[in-house]
Amino acid sequence: MIDTHCHFDFSPFNQAPDQYWQAAREVGVTRMVVPSVNEQNWPAVLALTERFAEMYAGLGLHPCFLDTHTDNSLAALEDALVSRPLSCVAVGEAGLDYCVAHTPEMKQRQHALLDGQLWLARRYDLPIILHSRQSHNDLLRLVKAYPGVRGVLHAFSGSEQQGKQFIDAGLMLGVGGTVTYERANKTRQAIARLPLNHLLLETDAPDMTLAGYQGKPNTPAQVSRVVDVVAALKSCDRDHLVAETSGNAERMFGLH
Ligand SMILES: [Zn+2]
Repeated sequence: MIDTHCHFDFSPFNQAPDQYWQAAREVGVTRMVVPSVNEQNWPAVLALTERFAEMYAGLGLHPCFLDTHTDNSLAALEDALVSRPLSCVAVGEAGLDYCVAHTPEMKQRQHALLDGQLWLARRYDLPIILHSRQSHNDLLRLVKAYPGVRGVLHAFSGSEQQGKQFIDAGLMLGVGGTVTYERANKTRQAIARLPLNHLLLETDAPDMTLAGYQGKPNTPAQVSRVVDVVAALKSCDRDHLVAETSGNAERMFGLH
């Protein structure tokens, strides 16, 4: 099992990384992609990939961390990508978030940062890890301006039709905690119907608590519960689901 989106450099994991990784391994998690949110946490994410051979990094500028990015951040990202180690397998986390962008000026800055990161992803032939809240149409428009770019829309939540639009734009869909909530009917139906060869599994830990676990921090071990729910939704065998989605992650991120 591969958790394709876990902020393992965040609390509480950074207080006892060996313990949390051991717990994840015990339920069958074999590898993990750790995206970053800003220039300040790139070193911590890269250090994790040096300490744990099963972890891979994404380097990026997250739209919710606007006030930590500067006019120089995209240039710094390019420098980091030029000298990236093999364990850096993606650009990201990048994207748009209209729940936090309250002014046209903030949206404008998010657009410019996403545009720059799409350009870098294509320039350095890396997949991009995308975040989108209340911004699906604008995100799609920006992605489509970069034909040939590949990546994943993480924490997918939306209709089957929206899912298809992202797949048509060259993206995979990251499936996580949302589908464990029965009230997330639209997303559950979408995942049941969308093609398995475009789905990745993730937790977004420590965020995105699963149904039934409210009040506790989400952990990478929980990807095993996501597998249970998605296998039930797609009426497919657990092992088959794990093998297919792991293959998707290996191909997209070039994991070996
Ligand atoms: Zn994230």
